[in-house]
Amino acid sequence: MRQRLSIADYTAGILAGDRIMLSRAITVTESRLAADKELAAQLLKNILPHTGKALRIGITGVPGVGKSTFIESFGTYLTSIGKSVAVLAVDPSSQRSGGSILGDKTRMEKLAHNPLAYIRPSATGLFLGGIARSTREIILLCEAAGFEIILIETVGVGQSETLVKSITDFFLLLMLAGAGDELQGIKKGIMEMADAIAINKADGENVQAVNLALSAYQNALHLLPKTESGFVTKVLPCSALTETGMDTIWALIQEYEKTTRGNGFFDQNRQNQNLSWMHDQIRRTLEDQFYSNPNVKNKLKELEKAVREGKELPGSGAQDLLDIFLAKSAK
Ligand code: GDP
Repeated sequence: MRQRLSIADYTAGILAGDRIMLSRAITVTESRLAADKELAAQLLKNILPHTGKALRIGITGVPGVGKSTFIESFGTYLTSIGKSVAVLAVDPSSQRSGGSILGDKTRMEKLAHNPLAYIRPSATGLFLGGIARSTREIILLCEAAGFEIILIETVGVGQSETLVKSITDFFLLLMLAGAGDELQGIKKGIMEMADAIAINKADGENVQAVNLALSAYQNALHLLPKTESGFVTKVLPCSALTETGMDTIWALIQEYEKTTRGNGFFDQNRQNQNLSWMHDQIRRTLEDQFYSNPNVKNKLKELEKAVREGKELPGSGAQDLLDIFLAKSAK
């Protein structure tokens, strides 16, 4: 294990915007070692007064839609107008491939060398809950290091979008124009979550198809319930490849921020997110304690077998285990 520094060193390094310190602190927050958890908790407490100022933007879409190309273009655009940008990835699938946001060297090469940008490879080997916890903490660390915009990429694999939605201020869904099947295979739930939809690859021969898709999505959005934010979800074309449409997307995001700060949704949303973070943490801690309890472990296999064979009701199996856990932890 790499040697840890003192909390004061991490804190000072992060607040000075030192990327190496930031990376090392992120590694600490991702660690599962008890000593690191303690260190991370103290560090987060120290930097807390310096957090919350960034705009947190979630970006999702199916593999191949152009997420990393988009982040490269959009991030480059943002830095060209003087913004500093941190890029994080929430990628549960990387557990399987062992890959990371930088696994493919060609990904975001330009942005990776941009002095105003910081790209953090996604944590591998973490379960979704673990990713959620560490991503929230990484956002805070990046904010304390002075980054003004945090881009959080996630693959459209279901649960991870909900998670990213729950830790961001603005949620952008990237889509493609299909050959007449624009609305097929789009999960309504994901469209409902989006604050904006960008139809990517609006270049070359694809422009016309994108225009058709724009009106199809626009119509589909009319059918969705009114958004909580009070901001009407918009559909825009863009080309990550030719870096077109980045300015209009940024203008839209700014309009969203203005609207939601004005009507109070922005702050309210962050407060709610913090509350669910706390409850998530409680749930996860209890669950960890439950499954690592030796008495529960002893009995678990037997009860699982009984439930599988229909000899025990799932509910009473759960109750037996909970009784064992509560009896022991009460002592
Ligand atoms: P991801 O899997 O969503 O991260 O998608 P990538 O960014 O890796 O892009 C998938 C493929 O689409 C790559 O071959 C990109 O070069 C291509 N691509 C991405 N954006 C655009 C675009 O705006 N126009 C065109 N024509 N191709 C694009």
